[in-house]
Amino acid sequence: MTENLILQNGIILTPFEELHNSVLFLKDGKIEKIVYDTEFKSNKKFYYGKYKIIDINNNYMSPGFIDIHTHGVNNVDATKGPYEAMSEFIVKYGTTGFLPTFWNANISDLIDACKNISRFIKNQKKGSKVLGINSEGPYLNPKFGAQDPINSIIPRFNDYNKLLAASEGNLKLMTVAPEIKGAEELIKYLRLNDVTIAICYTEMTVNQLYKSIDMGVSHIGHIFNGFGESTTLDRGTKPYGLQEELLVCDNLMSEVLADKVGAHVHPVWLKIILRCKGIENIILITDSRDINGNPPGTYTMGDGFDAIIKKDEDIVRLVDDGGLAGCIMTMNGAINNMIKHTGINLKDAIRMATFNPARAIKISNRKGEIKAGMDADIAVFNKNIDIKLTIVNGLIEYYNL
Ligand SMILES: [Zn+2]
Repeated sequence: MTENLILQNGIILTPFEELHNSVLFLKDGKIEKIVYDTEFKSNKKFYYGKYKIIDINNNYMSPGFIDIHTHGVNNVDATKGPYEAMSEFIVKYGTTGFLPTFWNANISDLIDACKNISRFIKNQKKGSKVLGINSEGPYLNPKFGAQDPINSIIPRFNDYNKLLAASEGNLKLMTVAPEIKGAEELIKYLRLNDVTIAICYTEMTVNQLYKSIDMGVSHIGHIFNGFGESTTLDRGTKPYGLQEELLVCDNLMSEVLADKVGAHVHPVWLKIILRCKGIENIILITDSRDINGNPPGTYTMGDGFDAIIKKDEDIVRLVDDGGLAGCIMTMNGAINNMIKHTGINLKDAIRMATFNPARAIKISNRKGEIKAGMDADIAVFNKNIDIKLTIVNGLIEYYNL
């Protein structure tokens, strides 16, 4: 049952403003209002018995984090479940909503996973909310990334039509390599079904990029991880290609993988991405793998690849060739890394983990912002982004104040 809550003595990051001396009211699973401290204190008696009052103790409160790209945590693979175990793990790190994210698996397995997730969404009661599905594959260019190329397939209507039907409107995001045969029809069909389309695992030409944008592509999957290299080089002249075009192209939001050691994206590139795309177009993701939550060591992941977690790293490397294969990050870790690598302020970093991902998957009318009428999804944390309290739809799901 949702409780009506008053959160006082905290700093609110809406995330467009930083509000001090303000009190946040949550009622019936929604954000009711924000009032000044003085106003609250003079009317305090009125609220006794009607609300539970929580002292936030000078910590920050922001919208709950939204992770639109996680392949698993807690030894759970997002193509298989159980999704309860993902939700329970993720909510401890301030994430109130997420998209279980597929990789390149067999299409019939992905269709089954869509059915399972849709069923789970209907019945979910606890933990971080499953907000839909992100299918990173199987329509990728097999040349790129730590994805099993065997499962990269040509889009066929029969397949993706089944996938969409099985997802019951829950497919929110799908990655497509625009240069593969049949991609155009797929992109059009996804747009008709209101799915956000990401480009990644691609070596499309710049012309194909702009054609894709005209067709409704709006999203870059983890920029600088999974793209063809720049093409022209002439005696000391900097090469130019798709990735440079992605930086200056105004019409795309971009996922960024900000890991602790800057392995996926060098900190200098993070700064350049920030300057090019602006705080309004960057989305922090975890790209977490199922082995997230385990101590350093060697593990076999859900997709069958052997991977290493090294001490003091939040990334996953393949045993075979040392190639990068995602992360063991949590959203609060990604926010921290982005701040450390780029010097960005906390409020803006929080926007990249809340409002921006909500906008990318078209749910910013109800999530990703603290204002009256929005879902009561709240993360409370200190300046190091250590999570103190997570509230999902007005329910306290994690408490460590
Ligand atoms: Zn991924």
